[in-house]
Amino acid sequence: MLITSMLVQDGNDGSDRLFRKLMKQVAVVAGITHVAFGLLFYWHQVPWLSWVNVFSVLLYVLVFWLMRTDRNTFFAWLLVVGEIVAHAVLAVTFVGWDSGFHFYIMLIPPVVMVSPLQNAVAKMPAVIAVVAVYVALDYSLREANATYAMPPAVQDSLYYFNLVAVLAIMVFLAGLYYRLVVRNERKLQRLATTDALTGLHNRRSLTLYATDLLSQTQPLTAILCDLDNFKRTNDEHGHLAGDQVLITVARLLRQSVRSRDLAARWGGEEFLLLLPETSAAEAAVVAERIRQRIDAAVIEMGGTTLPVSATLGVAERKGQETLDQLLARADEALYQGKHAGRNRIVCMD
Ligand code: GH3
Ligand code: MG
Ligand code: MG
Repeated sequence: MLITSMLVQDGNDGSDRLFRKLMKQVAVVAGITHVAFGLLFYWHQVPWLSWVNVFSVLLYVLVFWLMRTDRNTFFAWLLVVGEIVAHAVLAVTFVGWDSGFHFYIMLIPPVVMVSPLQNAVAKMPAVIAVVAVYVALDYSLREANATYAMPPAVQDSLYYFNLVAVLAIMVFLAGLYYRLVVRNERKLQRLATTDALTGLHNRRSLTLYATDLLSQTQPLTAILCDLDNFKRTNDEHGHLAGDQVLITVARLLRQSVRSRDLAARWGGEEFLLLLPETSAAEAAVVAERIRQRIDAAVIEMGGTTLPVSATLGVAERKGQETLDQLLARADEALYQGKHAGRNRIVCMD
């Protein structure tokens, strides 16, 4: 239940499925528990409560069925909340406060707060109503005698069963909620740091990593890789063909570097590699290998092979150069390569 909110609200299908699965599990566990309660009350001659539990079981069957067929999770959610409150109120009224059935009401306020009710204005009255019901029940029933007195051993067992069950549910829901928050955080983190088309680091992500790299490792070399005449590829073969080239080049780049190297999509058709503990001479070897691989790549689109080549500028970091200063020199090398006729690498110094 706790997870409804974040995930039903963001309309994420995977999370919706997860919520339905959870609701089905809740329905099964709650349904079985209510069968047991129903039998217990029948056994101890509290027929009223037996019937209440038959009703609860039917309601959880309905919830289970709704989760299989209906898209309306909110309605099922309301049914569950309503059932918990109603059952708790009736149970403590008939078999006494010390049966511990009121504990289940404590689950409702936190659940409401993270529920699909869209805003605090809708949530506060619901929470206040639940708290008011709880306090009123406590006030009127705590000292009262039960309508149906159960044997003390049964009463005690019920009390501790309910107490432990509610604590277990709290731990379970808090754990679930925590896992979902962490999962969503990771997902957002990945979205915020990845280039959607190529899956490489985006500019922002690489800049963040570069700050660390610049403070730690020497030597460090940058390779700027810019596709040649890419505008023409787009113009002659279409934007989709251009995208396909970008995806292929990104894959080649990823395959051509070590795991500790960083590969990013720096601009439209411009890629940046940062190679820690690598000199300019060593990086030039990597750059040349990349150039050859790109040049040799066969990218087919609609029956034609797309032309693809790249020019690469290599510069090793000097002294305490900033990233911008280093990239300015790599860019200068790249410019020289373009000027000299493209499809080549140029190494500064
Ligand atoms: P040069 O050899 O001098 O680098 O020429 P160029 O045509 O590659 O360079 P220019 O900067 O003139 O053109 C870059 C083109 O890249 C223009 C732009 O439409 C295209 N481009 C940028 N981002 C994307 C993208 O995400 N997808 C596609 N298909 N094209 C893109
Ligand atoms: Mg270009
Ligand atoms: Mg460019």
